[in-house]
Amino acid sequence: MDALYKVVAELLVKLGSCVALTGAGISAESGIPTFRSQGGLWDKYDPMVYASAEVFRQDPSKYWLIRGEFIRNYGSYQPNPGHYALAALEKMGILEHVITQNIDGLHKKAGSQRVTEIHGSLREIYCQSCGKEYLAPHVPEGDPPFCECGGVLKPNTVLFGEQLPREALETAYQESSSCRTMLVIGTSAVVQPAASLPSLAKQNGAIVIEVNPEKAFATADHYIAEKAGKALSRIVEEVKIG
Ligand code: NAD
Repeated sequence: MDALYKVVAELLVKLGSCVALTGAGISAESGIPTFRSQGGLWDKYDPMVYASAEVFRQDPSKYWLIRGEFIRNYGSYQPNPGHYALAALEKMGILEHVITQNIDGLHKKAGSQRVTEIHGSLREIYCQSCGKEYLAPHVPEGDPPFCECGGVLKPNTVLFGEQLPREALETAYQESSSCRTMLVIGTSAVVQPAASLPSLAKQNGAIVIEVNPEKAFATADHYIAEKAGKALSRIVEEVKIG
């Protein structure tokens, strides 16, 4: 494993132009359960039902049931060493962009500047009637909460059945096809179109490095079987020694 960290650090320094694609796994060490962790929220509530656009239209209280607690405690979730390591790699001039499927805002909180949240953010909440914006954790009481105008409030996140924000998607494709190295961290690589971005990077000549205790991306060039916090901190150390 020691040799692998050295190889990866050398690649990042030599090739640079790195893009990170992150998923729920990088936030697991911040205490936020992934979709597939046992005993987690999603064991009890099927996200395909509770986080679907159609169900939200019929009964927004279902969505607020699974997300309300998170939104009201939004400020208490903190970045972990994995998020900080990516922010450090950006400061070193190695990491150019973070493309994240996460909606928890932790990359920006850790100090990463260039972040594209392709599934949106739980922080921004809009009234579907008058457009008034509320910022988590400051939302009115109630499941679902209503705007002072009486309209339904919806976080600025992409629900199942909704289109991804066009600009974010274009940035994700552009960054993935132009990078020279890609770190794929903590994603099960099943949710499209994010799951296709590592292949896009590879087709355009990038070296793909996966960090995940369970291998998910079959054609990664290098695979680090480790939690994101430990692995990414170690990579930063190796780059510094470099
Ligand atoms: P996923 O739940 O499908 O997969 C998580 C992956 O992370 C798995 O492959 C798992 O092996 C890996 N993992 C677990 N702990 C890890 C750790 N400590 N370090 C590194 N990897 C670890 O998540 P996904 O691929 O991101 O896709 C599912 C969807 O889940 C996305 O759309 C995302 O928006 C949503 N989601 C987001 C959050 C969040 O914002 N934090 C949380 C849950 C789900």
